[in-house]
Amino acid sequence: MASPGQQSQRIEAWFLENRRTLPWRTRRSAWRSLVSELMLQQTQVARVVEKFIPFMERFPDPASLAAADEQEVLAMWQGLGYYRRARNLKRSAEYIVQHFGGRTPLDVDDLLQLPGVGRYTAGAVASIAGRRRVPIVDGNVQRVLARLHADDADPSSRDAIDRAWQRAGALVEACDRPDHLNEGLMELGALVCTPGVPDCGTCPVASGCSAKRSGRQGRIPPPKRAAIKIEVHHHAVVIKRKGRLLMEQRGDDGIWAGLWQVPTVESKRKLVPSQVQRRCGIELAGIDRLGSFTHVLSHRRIHVHVFRGSIAAGVRAGVGTWCTSSQMERLPVSNAVVRILEVART
Ligand code: SF4
Repeated sequence: MASPGQQSQRIEAWFLENRRTLPWRTRRSAWRSLVSELMLQQTQVARVVEKFIPFMERFPDPASLAAADEQEVLAMWQGLGYYRRARNLKRSAEYIVQHFGGRTPLDVDDLLQLPGVGRYTAGAVASIAGRRRVPIVDGNVQRVLARLHADDADPSSRDAIDRAWQRAGALVEACDRPDHLNEGLMELGALVCTPGVPDCGTCPVASGCSAKRSGRQGRIPPPKRAAIKIEVHHHAVVIKRKGRLLMEQRGDDGIWAGLWQVPTVESKRKLVPSQVQRRCGIELAGIDRLGSFTHVLSHRRIHVHVFRGSIAAGVRAGVGTWCTSSQMERLPVSNAVVRILEVART
């Protein structure tokens, strides 16, 4: 196998030739790196590309995000999912203003004090924006390193994770530029050494890859056991009156915490319209079923049933807020609610 120094230099050179043009790469700063890394967690690059520039124009520095209303931040985050990251980013901005004079830190120990920032994100910001010689390991990097070393252990095991960090550490110690090496490792995992069948013919480190040499690149890492998903039913009732839509805010805990939705009855089983009508807490004059779809989250499969409800003239809704279409544009809602409203429009 090639030495860590040879491998690092091949990856760095490959990265400079093959990197994608992405908005957070056009200009580097610790703040831009922090925002992009938090957006990219568990979210497709294409979706982050759409959201990054508008978010940075509105919140160009920690101070602007720290001073913003959380509802506006969640609305700007809409479409990226996992809204806890948006809240953590806002809390991080507040912490940066209070403890670092508004300047995003570049040292790993300082970054680790920020809410929602773990070893990977701290290493990414420190190495990519600050060129600090620190390793990073995400799923892509771990897969590349496991294949290079023909390590067929379960990637979620503690030992496998520790070995990945040690191997990433050896590469970054031996590299010329930590930013190019770390982004190169991630880019290699995203574009070449992909899950399933990697494109070894274009890989810059193929000559030193133990998995390729033994023909096991398709079997390393071993397949993950599928996560068990809880099945739940959400019965969403779309109620309009005088051009306004009745909306309610979700609680502070659980999925979509703090986001807005049409009145929704959640249950383990599918309910018939009369049960939805009784349980929704609103005195409905009538209810019609419009359609259903399934919304899949990491640990949950949500069967969404969409209804149109009507309230008799003079009867108060008793819950929620009547929203105009311009108010709706500023309300943070989940992708499931966007789809519910599409079903109600068709
Ligand atoms: Fe991955 Fe193939 Fe490169 Fe090995 S040779 S690191 S399996 S792409």
